[in-house]
Amino acid sequence: MFCSEWAIVKVTFKSAHVLPLKCKCWTCDECRPGRTRRVVEEAKRGNPTFFITLTSRRRPDLTPSQAAERLVIAWRKIRRDYMDDHGKGSIAFMAVFEATRKGWPHIHIVARCKSFQEMWLRERMRKLIGSPVVNVRRIHGKSKIAAYVTKYIGKNPHRFKGTKRYWRSLDYLLPPPEEPYDEWAEIPYWHVEQRFWLFVAEDLAAAGYDVKAPWGQAPPYLQQPSQWRPKCPP
Ligand SMILES: [Zn+2]
Repeated sequence: MFCSEWAIVKVTFKSAHVLPLKCKCWTCDECRPGRTRRVVEEAKRGNPTFFITLTSRRRPDLTPSQAAERLVIAWRKIRRDYMDDHGKGSIAFMAVFEATRKGWPHIHIVARCKSFQEMWLRERMRKLIGSPVVNVRRIHGKSKIAAYVTKYIGKNPHRFKGTKRYWRSLDYLLPPPEEPYDEWAEIPYWHVEQRFWLFVAEDLAAAGYDVKAPWGQAPPYLQQPSQWRPKCPP
C-alpha cells in the first residue's frame, strides 16, 4: 500500500465519510509535517516550565547511535535522581532527539517542574557520561513556550538507531481545556477498504449515499466523478 491510497470509511444510515488512509511514517514526505506538528502540539500541551538541552561529547570510539543511547540512559537516571530529591511526580517531561550538522546527537527537553538547577545537572552529566555541556532555561508565558517549542522541538526530530525520535513521561500531557472535535477519535466506527479511496467514495455516491470525501485531493485527472460509468437499469 502507498500512503493515502487506500480508504478509511465510515458509513451511517444515509451518509458516508471517506478519507485517504495515511501511513503516518516519519519517512513519508506526505506524513512527516503532520507528525512534526503533533509533537509540537504535545510539547505545548504539557505547559512546560523549563527547557533543558543535554549534549554528548564527541568520542571517536562511539557511533552516533551509541552516544544517543547513552544520553537516553543518562536522562532516565537524572530524572530518577531528581524525583528522589523532590518527590514522586515532581517532574514531567517530553524529550526530542536532534542531530548536529555532523550527525551527533543531543536532546531537547521540555519539562514541567518547580525548579531545575543547571549546576546540578552539569555535575550529574559530567559524572554519568562525561558530557557537562548542558543548558537550562526557565520559561514563562504561552508565547515564549510556543516560540521555543517550534524552534527546538519541531525543527527536525531525528531518529538514531535503537532510540525513539521523541518520548515523554506518562504524566506529561495535561488534558486540553476543551477538546477540539477530532474525527480520528471515532476510529472504532471506521473501517479500512483496500481500494483506492476515490473509487470507494464514488461507489458509495453511486449507491445513493451522501458522501463526504476530500474530492479536491484526488489526482487532477480523476477529480470529476466519472461520467462514463454505465447507468444501472431501473
Ligand atoms: Zn504517509
